[in-house]
Amino acid sequence: EIEVRDLHKSFGDNKVLRGIDLAIGQGEVVCVIGPSGSGKSTLLRCVNLLEEPTKGQVFVGGTELTDPDVDIDAVRRRIGMVFQQFNLFPHLTVTANLTLPQRRVLGRGKAEAAKVAAENLERVGLSEKADAYPASLSGGQQQRVAIARSLSMGPEVMLFDEPTSALDPELVGDVLAVMRMLANEGMTMMVVTHEMTFAREVADRVVFMDGGVIVEDGTPSQVITNPSHDRTRHFLSRLL
Ligand code: ATP
Ligand code: MG
Repeated sequence: EIEVRDLHKSFGDNKVLRGIDLAIGQGEVVCVIGPSGSGKSTLLRCVNLLEEPTKGQVFVGGTELTDPDVDIDAVRRRIGMVFQQFNLFPHLTVTANLTLPQRRVLGRGKAEAAKVAAENLERVGLSEKADAYPASLSGGQQQRVAIARSLSMGPEVMLFDEPTSALDPELVGDVLAVMRMLANEGMTMMVVTHEMTFAREVADRVVFMDGGVIVEDGTPSQVITNPSHDRTRHFLSRLL
């Protein structure tokens, strides 16, 4: 469903990604871990072409995004992305946050957009907040709204970049529960996270990145419980 081949990304002289090969099958959940600056966010941003790769190919659902002839806006609609910062529109209600992109980007009518919004608010457990404004919600609730907004666009794959890192510890669990539900429903997911319990329990595979390369790629028990590289062990020892 997602495939990255020999992906390189440089910013000037800074070689941030140095040849990434990664394949994520339909319905698979892959957690990406690694130290700060290792290129995790850059990799995620290259997967939906928020960053243009310096070299290499990215495929999503069989379409090559890095093909210069591809309609990148059309492909990007198939990819949902959730960031550390929730980026909700502060002047719009929760429902309007969910309906506006559907109407603007997908051209859905008012009634359909509202129906899809209601369904997705229900999925993240926030139906009662439909008419609230983002500022009146907790960080965890705002992040669940951001996930519902992304889901309302009907993505084939979901990318998460440290979705719980900005949250107070007591709010992390609700967001992870929503992500766990999506994983159980068969969503294809690529998740950059420091939540090792989530990675261990939910991920099909864990990828450890360091210095712009994938150092280790395997099951959670292979990578987290029995890492075979010193760099992975060192990273995990500082985290746990
Ligand atoms: P963190 O865990 O801190 O989020 P990360 O693994 O996500 O780290 P990236 O954000 O991908 O790391 O950054 C990797 C490197 O790329 C860093 O050296 C960063 O300074 C550089 N970098 C990222 N984005 C840009 C940009 N837009 N312009 C220039 N340099 C960038
Ligand atoms: Mg990052």
